[in-house]
Amino acid sequence: MSSAYPALFQPLDVGPFVLKNRFLMGSMHTGLEEAKGGFERMAAFYAERARGGVALIVTGGISPNDEGVTYPGGAKLTNDDEANSHRLITDAVHEAGGRICMQILHTGRYAYVPHNVSASALQAPINPFQPKELDDAGVERTIDDFIRCARLAKQAGYDGVEVMGSEGYLINQFTAPRTNHRDDRWGGENEGRISLAEHIVRGIRAECGDDFLVVYRLSMIDLVADGNTWDEIVDQAHRIEAAGAHLLNTGIGWHEARVPTIVTSVPRAAFVAVTERIRKEVGIPVVACNRINTPEVAERIVASGQADMVSMARPFLADADFVNKAEADDADAINTCIACNQACLDHVFELKPASCLVNPRAGRETELNYLPAKQAKRVAVVGAGPGGLSAAVVAAQRGHHVTLFDEHEVIGGQFNLARRIPGKEEFSETLRYFRVHLERLGVVQTLGRTVSAEELAQFDEVIVATGIVPRTPAIDGIDHPSVVSYVDLVSGKVKPGQNVAVIGAGGIGFDVGEVLVHGEVSPSLDIDAFAREWGVDFNVTGRGGLVAPQPEPSPRQVWLLQRKSSKLGKNLGKTTGWVHRATLKHKGVEFLSGVDYQHIDDDGLHIRVEGEAQTLPVDQIVICAGQESRLDLFDALEAMGKTSHRIGGAFKAGELDAKRAIRQGAEVAAEL
Ligand code: FAD
Ligand code: NAP
Ligand code: SF4
Repeated sequence: MSSAYPALFQPLDVGPFVLKNRFLMGSMHTGLEEAKGGFERMAAFYAERARGGVALIVTGGISPNDEGVTYPGGAKLTNDDEANSHRLITDAVHEAGGRICMQILHTGRYAYVPHNVSASALQAPINPFQPKELDDAGVERTIDDFIRCARLAKQAGYDGVEVMGSEGYLINQFTAPRTNHRDDRWGGENEGRISLAEHIVRGIRAECGDDFLVVYRLSMIDLVADGNTWDEIVDQAHRIEAAGAHLLNTGIGWHEARVPTIVTSVPRAAFVAVTERIRKEVGIPVVACNRINTPEVAERIVASGQADMVSMARPFLADADFVNKAEADDADAINTCIACNQACLDHVFELKPASCLVNPRAGRETELNYLPAKQAKRVAVVGAGPGGLSAAVVAAQRGHHVTLFDEHEVIGGQFNLARRIPGKEEFSETLRYFRVHLERLGVVQTLGRTVSAEELAQFDEVIVATGIVPRTPAIDGIDHPSVVSYVDLVSGKVKPGQNVAVIGAGGIGFDVGEVLVHGEVSPSLDIDAFAREWGVDFNVTGRGGLVAPQPEPSPRQVWLLQRKSSKLGKNLGKTTGWVHRATLKHKGVEFLSGVDYQHIDDDGLHIRVEGEAQTLPVDQIVICAGQESRLDLFDALEAMGKTSHRIGGAFKAGELDAKRAIRQGAEVAAEL
């Protein structure tokens, strides 16, 4: 047992069996459910996490019928044939010493299909399809579908099921007055609205027997208008327990909620207070979730009695060995999920298989493997940004002799700027992970000087990860003292002005906006400040747990500008862009698109917007106008006739992000 995390490594009796520790891998759609060969890939994916020590895995959501699928062709479990394909997964997990439940997810009005159904015929703000109201017979049939689905899951070898009752999906649509306007036995007061869930849980217990685990995910704070009150949520928890659930998992917020719940700017364990209160109300074990990403945070939650277990999904994408490392008191070696959503949730929304920015092997366990090198080579990696770090660690893991060069005294490249952005503090964890593994793998680090092509002649392989140089736009007056680069502002070399224009509204322009609008305390590090910014009432005094937001005023006036006429932030992440836009809007930032930059002088920034001249009376102009590949070293190597591998920003500056840099680094190093 781990001495650092004793509470996490206590066994837990959940009824049908005893779990070996307190880690639950939360449900997450991987996109493999519908992919060709997806079941083989899911088997490898989940088995690796079971070997990594997770006590209980919950699969991505599987619909109990045609109407409840996420999108056309979405995964469902309705017959024996479909059940047979799940055998690969359950066998692989059991062989790896794990336990696995299948999540039954009926998406209700969120189903991206024209034949979707719900408690009432009320269209979701995030779906163009208006649902049909289920009639009484339709509700009965849906209950039967859930029970059949659980029976088939048992037949497929699952240890249990999780009934998805939160995040605004069908069951939650029945439980909340927001979406349930019925006056029959499935609607009206709380007793009627929760009865669908009670029938489902009771029916599954009766059908599948006492040795089959039933987990229920209860929405403990809806974060939407006309959501449930606290008294209703407590009553629902009691009824679900009485209906026979063995384990109560936490659901936080509906998908249509306008409060961030899992992005990186949400403080760690921000919502655990609601789980703690429910735990005091019920006799079955309760699971906490959302933004739990380190063993320290998880231990605190379980040791202090806030919950019996912790659920994490993304942290197990980032590191399949998370639990084993925690058990060995080696938390420093964990590749921590930075909650960026870039390769997991954003991929799912783009209908691409989920992976992980910090661990490109996630979801690709059958194809990207870091096998011992046939011949150990001398490998030079130039540039210790995310791309170079990834290449250096994978090459060294495979047995190569690696030397890493960077002209800065510290590793990290642009991640040293990213981690300074309020709300991106987690990015430091990635640098800690790389630092620990470079040392353990004996990578020679030559830092603090620019390496020349001549010095690299002796190496068998050279990886050029020299990144980018910021672009300087050709605007009249660009040399004016008020003009600064984002590098100097974010690094703290230059203090922010009082009235600031930001030229360029890409990822970095928005991040510079975050630097400018927050005061001393980043709301991502302070749960009370976060709650005030977004109007969250953890006591759920009113319906949905929402109150009027009280954002701290910005300490300065900010304008964010771009030349394109499109909406600002259009290309930010699918699941995170809205949070950045809303944050800056709350703080009064003025968004201007279609801007034509004229000139800069002592009066400020002179622009034309839709042909009309304006002068922004600013004392500072921050340039965030994109980047260009840094190719001085690559070109010198070419001139010398030395072949090299180019990755990250040095490969291509356009559409660059750390996801691509880290993936390219790993892929190149896996082939050396
Ligand atoms: P870089 O990180 O640019 O590193 C290149 C390194 O090479 C530098 O350290 C440089 O000093 C060194 N170097 C160059 N030439 C030489 C030489 N001749 N000798 C020695 N050393 C040399 N990406 C995301 O995916 N998500 C985000 O949320 C995100 N946020 C960001 C926020 C900010 C404020 C910034 C600035 C960037 C952000 N990025 C983000 C972008 C991300 O950091 C980059 O895509 C990533 O760092 C690119 O990695 P890289 O390895 O190609 O190069
Ligand atoms: P970017 O996203 O390409 O944005 C560059 C911005 O500069 C655009 O708004 C562009 O808009 C403007 N621009 C380009 N050329 C210009 C010129 N000559 N004069 C004036 N404006 C010009 O690049 P970035 O913001 O520098 O970010 C770099 C990379 O880091 C990005 O690829 C991004 O993916 C990554 N990153 C990601 C995140 C994230 O949250 N995922 C955060 C930060 C950075 P107009 O041309 O319309 O003016
Ligand atoms: Fe976590 Fe980002 Fe990886 Fe998703 S992509 S698992 S959020 S680090």
